[in-house]
Amino acid sequence: MTILNIIDAIDRWGMKEPNRPVYIETNRTYTYGELKRDSDAVAAYLQKNIGHSRPVVVYGELEFEMLACFLGASKAGHAYIPIEAHTPKDRVEMILEVADPAVIFSVKEWPDLETAAEIVPLEKIQEICTQSWTLNVPFEPVVDSETYYIIFTSGTTGVPKGVQISHANLLSFVNWELSDFGITEGMRFLAQAPYSFDLSVMDLYPALTSGGSLTPMRKEIINDFKQLFTVLPTLEIEVWVSTPSFMDICLMEPTFDGEHVDRLKVFLFCGEELPKATAQKLLERFPKAHVFNTYGPTEATVAISGVEITHELLEEYSRVPIGYVKNDTNVYIMNDESEVSAEEVGEIVIAGPSVSKGYLNNQEKTDAAFFEYKGQPAYRTGDAGKLKEGMLIYDGRIDFQVKLHGYRIELEDIDHHLAEVSYVKQAAVVPKYQNHKVQQLVAFVVANPHSFEKEFKLSKAIKAELGLSVMEYMIPQKFIYVEQLPLTANGKIDRKGLMNEVNAT
Ligand code: AMP
Repeated sequence: MTILNIIDAIDRWGMKEPNRPVYIETNRTYTYGELKRDSDAVAAYLQKNIGHSRPVVVYGELEFEMLACFLGASKAGHAYIPIEAHTPKDRVEMILEVADPAVIFSVKEWPDLETAAEIVPLEKIQEICTQSWTLNVPFEPVVDSETYYIIFTSGTTGVPKGVQISHANLLSFVNWELSDFGITEGMRFLAQAPYSFDLSVMDLYPALTSGGSLTPMRKEIINDFKQLFTVLPTLEIEVWVSTPSFMDICLMEPTFDGEHVDRLKVFLFCGEELPKATAQKLLERFPKAHVFNTYGPTEATVAISGVEITHELLEEYSRVPIGYVKNDTNVYIMNDESEVSAEEVGEIVIAGPSVSKGYLNNQEKTDAAFFEYKGQPAYRTGDAGKLKEGMLIYDGRIDFQVKLHGYRIELEDIDHHLAEVSYVKQAAVVPKYQNHKVQQLVAFVVANPHSFEKEFKLSKAIKAELGLSVMEYMIPQKFIYVEQLPLTANGKIDRKGLMNEVNAT
């Protein structure tokens, strides 16, 4: 069945089967009926109090109220912006500056931050949801090319970029996931990725439009191996969505296999390279399940290609391929403005209906990455790759964007904020790789005069100050202090040289 409207497809379950489970927490199961009631209430509140079209921020983690606010915003015609709680204040401030939201639904406690937007704390969200609302006009939900959500991602200048995803973009993705990956009505999905990471869209909308449910796995569990390893063999989920990095951690628990977790049927990976060893181990542990590697950037709505991993596929390729491009989309391998010849490596350019309209209020970055190609909206990914008989093969990045545990980081973003730390004169951050995977971030730092006796104390102070403006996963693990940073022939910091240095052994 093709989904034509996201909200209608979700609400249909709330009307037809209000008791159907939608969000399965450890201590409480929420139903589609509750989701419809709460999201209607949030939408009514917005429609009554806020003018159409300005975005709405939803701040929190994996709480049920996050969903109610997302859907409520969409029903009332607003794009929503998920911001994960614990995002450093400076970064939240930068996002607010770019987005200028009308309202902030603060499911988790709002940081001490001044804003012109109306802040609606959890107690008020709950109060809104218990009121009965009467509207004189029907809801005017987000449709077609209107922006459905905005996800902020690392930007080279130090200011996050807001990727605008329309209702039409989202439909293209959801319909593909529902048709090509063995997903059937009412399946139970793992919800592990923060909503501010577009990987979460891979579970959220396919699950909800097909009458399925989400089982959130909270940060407290993910970050505590003892709890995580206790929970894993008891999971009753059927569809697994995560980064390969998270799977690598889970595979450390020997009882995480098809015998103990016998309902698991589908594994969907995205967001970073799937290591061959991880794929191999999974096929051994879960011989009856279907394992898929998918690929795509936030700018093209979660993923645009995918392939089922089999023993034969792993034998044929030295690196796990990133799959066949979805039907409504074209991938071109380009070198600047022209397409390269067959099987040659070049930049992966994605053209099709799931390509975003661009970055919110950032024409310069939009113009640099988005264009029209052969009559379709197109996006330059910055990924290198090649096409071999329709199969897309990934070959690293052509710029300084990296993935660490699936999180997308522009190295220049960290440099920018490091240079603003009081102890730092100049800095360049480089990744240390193992088997194509970033193991750690290494910062080369020219320090300002300081009074720390030991370098590790200086590093600790730098980390603390840096943590005020960048996400925790962007803080380098290692600091190397130098008198000066090496320069290239044209006077730029020689990052490639530094990369070679840390990856030499
Ligand atoms: P994000 O926008 O956070 O989803 O990150 C998108 C980037 O992650 C892509 O441009 C790739 O560099 C990388 N990526 C996503 N999926 C894969 C994959 N299956 N294999 C290799 N790299 C991937």
